[in-house]
Amino acid sequence: MRVTNLNLHDALKQYFGFSKFKGLQEDVIKSIINKEDVFVIMPTGGGKSLCYQLPALIQEGTAIVVSPLIALMKNQVDAIRGISEDEGIAHVLNSSLNKGDVARVMNDIKRGVTKLLYVAPESLTKEEYIDFLKTQKISFVAIDEAHCISEWGHDFRPEYRNLKNIIKRIDNVPIIGLTATATPKVQEDILKNLGITNATTYKASFNRPNLFYEVRPKTKDVEKDIIRFVRRFKDKSGIIYCLSRKKVEEIAQVLQVNGIKALPYHAGLDGKTRAKHQDMFLMEDVDVVVATIAFGMGIDKPDVRFVIHHDIPKSLESYYQETGRGGRDGGEGHCLAFYSYKDIEKLEKFLSGKPVAEQEIGHALLQEVVSYAETSMSRRKFLLHYFGEEFDEVNGEGADMDDNVRNPKKKVEAKNEVKILLEIIRDTKEEYKSKEIVNTLIGKSNALLKSRRTDEQAYFGIGKNKDAAFWMALIRQVLVAGYITKEIEQYGVLKLPKKGLDFIENPTSFMMSEDHVYNDDNDTSIIT
Ligand code: ADP
Repeated sequence: MRVTNLNLHDALKQYFGFSKFKGLQEDVIKSIINKEDVFVIMPTGGGKSLCYQLPALIQEGTAIVVSPLIALMKNQVDAIRGISEDEGIAHVLNSSLNKGDVARVMNDIKRGVTKLLYVAPESLTKEEYIDFLKTQKISFVAIDEAHCISEWGHDFRPEYRNLKNIIKRIDNVPIIGLTATATPKVQEDILKNLGITNATTYKASFNRPNLFYEVRPKTKDVEKDIIRFVRRFKDKSGIIYCLSRKKVEEIAQVLQVNGIKALPYHAGLDGKTRAKHQDMFLMEDVDVVVATIAFGMGIDKPDVRFVIHHDIPKSLESYYQETGRGGRDGGEGHCLAFYSYKDIEKLEKFLSGKPVAEQEIGHALLQEVVSYAETSMSRRKFLLHYFGEEFDEVNGEGADMDDNVRNPKKKVEAKNEVKILLEIIRDTKEEYKSKEIVNTLIGKSNALLKSRRTDEQAYFGIGKNKDAAFWMALIRQVLVAGYITKEIEQYGVLKLPKKGLDFIENPTSFMMSEDHVYNDDNDTSIIT
């Protein structure tokens, strides 16, 4: 079928009622129609679903959409059914269907009316379904939430690992991967695991210029701080994330006692109560939902004015996703996180007992959270760098929308220190993570440094006129500036790219600001 620009717009209007494509949608759709493998990285709310729904609707055959969340699949199917006379246009295939239901789904696919077939990854492993789908005309397979394939993502699902083989067995059709997780490592995993390393990739910016980022130290007065903060947003909607169900209940109660309309939400509440609380939030019968991470997936309330993290999350992906639920209409969205290193230690405890690889990944992700919380540089620049995106902290959109930029710490010239740091990384053969590099600089030995005789070298302790916190801060800033890179495969080993080597030859000015020290003992607890 030849699809012209004109009828793409017609289809957009006819099926979805929109007059313009959003962001990269049109290019993505053209690639899909062109039978390319496609990889789409767009932040939540970017309009990913339409990227596969529209081409599915206008092409011959059935598109298979793999999605991990039954509730989301149902919502999408209902929405698609709303645009057609024939209910069979979209179906869900999952374990809740009885034989009759399955027969009906199969029949609609055979009749050629089903354009979108949503499946959970585990359903797709059923031989019966594979055998059936093999005989049908499939237009393409879209893998939604494709980051579930990667252990480096925030939501790893082992079932996703088999998808490539299953899809191959069904048909040699284009594969579309979609995700809102943008770290380079996760992206690489997705492409490799789906076998689409040559996919045409579309990546939208992850910058959310209307969100204000703020981190405050978490003290014993955190509840008072939260109440004071929430009161500023009278009658406005907000979400407060806590780590445990118990804390969710406690904070919800504290807010209620203080006259704030708040309700709890966590997986320990029964389904009916959860649905009720969610609806009350959407209908604005309550202003604040206090929740564990169980809350939020698929919540599309455009005017959430603040997102508070009572506890810091376990990765920056989670933080970005959760804060991303604020200000979706482009209006105010204040993201306030309370941070204490003790919470990081709590999260580390959760990791012990898990398989070693998972622990290492977990620790590496946590260190990024620590760096984000303690940094004194533009938080937006830090976050976007984490997602592999350059951000101009002077002229970029939303450049002044964070606590660090609004209240900058004094900057000092650190040209010489940068040179020393880079030389140490070079002289220790680019084998160490930040912790060992800092310890080498300040002359603090440990088992690893001893075993490699680093502590016997002339340069050991060369930077001891500065403390560990200083060097840690410098590493973070130099990383973002691109003079060092971090080897994620090796859980954070620091390497020197050409830019770093050039700096050693020709040092230039480097203005750094010292990081926040949020801990009582005035020492970054990482260096122990
Ligand atoms: P994502 O899956 O990337 O989080 P969605 O597909 O849920 O995003 O889309 C987010 C919102 O944007 C939805 O409310 C959707 O209806 C809306 N949307 C998508 N495409 C367009 C468009 N071209 N014009 C206007 N609104 C759009």
